[in-house]
Amino acid sequence: MTWTERQRAMLGAMGIAVWSAPSVKAAEAGDAAASRDAARGATAARGAAQTRPIASRVDPAPVSRAPPADDRSPRELEIAALGWQPLRERVAGCQACRLCEGRTQTVFGVGNERAHCMIVGEAPGENEDLQGEPFVGAAGQLLDRMLHAIGLTRGAAEPAQQVYIANTLKCRPPRNRNPEPDELALCGAYLRRQIELVQPRLLLAMGRFAVQTLLDSGEPIGKLRGRVHRWRERPVVVTYHPAYLLRNPADKARAWADLCLAAEQLRR
Ligand code: URA
Repeated sequence: MTWTERQRAMLGAMGIAVWSAPSVKAAEAGDAAASRDAARGATAARGAAQTRPIASRVDPAPVSRAPPADDRSPRELEIAALGWQPLRERVAGCQACRLCEGRTQTVFGVGNERAHCMIVGEAPGENEDLQGEPFVGAAGQLLDRMLHAIGLTRGAAEPAQQVYIANTLKCRPPRNRNPEPDELALCGAYLRRQIELVQPRLLLAMGRFAVQTLLDSGEPIGKLRGRVHRWRERPVVVTYHPAYLLRNPADKARAWADLCLAAEQLRR
């Protein structure tokens, strides 16, 4: 692999030293939770993985995960009919699970409501809970650099450049613990409605819980990344959570490959 000056500059912005690319270990669970585990001394399962950008590997038989309308609960159907403002209000007043008790405020989402690319993260942390905006802490700064590397931004821009960012959970879990399955299930209805309203050309799922919600898969990131999945026919690219990458910088090369795959999908 040879890199152009522009690519080197982009990789530099992400903190990737391109001369060290040939062989890095693969973490199979690249999410914020895994990075928390790693910080506590746990060892993530690792295996071999390629480090070059992946051209275009699309799942041979994409499967839509859309539930048939009659499988959806009355609550889900109700949420699925809301426009932007009623949805915002519904989220702001949500008391569907225990997380409402500890929040300062809900964190709905930000960005272009017609964005071509929608980022799906995990859950608000302390800063996000205080400011009401997703990804405003250290992980958010890395996310901004990653987006910049492929010509995207969270700042005001045309839908082709400005992303929409939302989390699987709209409330901060206490002490940033992992989301519980019932919390993901209940809050998933809001995320699904946001996606339907934005109608992005591409979903970028960051970390285990975004993947769990969108792809209904418990597979580790290391096993799912590198190919294009589908959520209700929309392409989904899976990558590591920025918080994980902050603790595991060797995997930034793989995240870069994932971003290249995302950018390629957006160019189609
Ligand atoms: N991590 C996330 O997944 N989302 C945020 O909003 C902040 C950190």
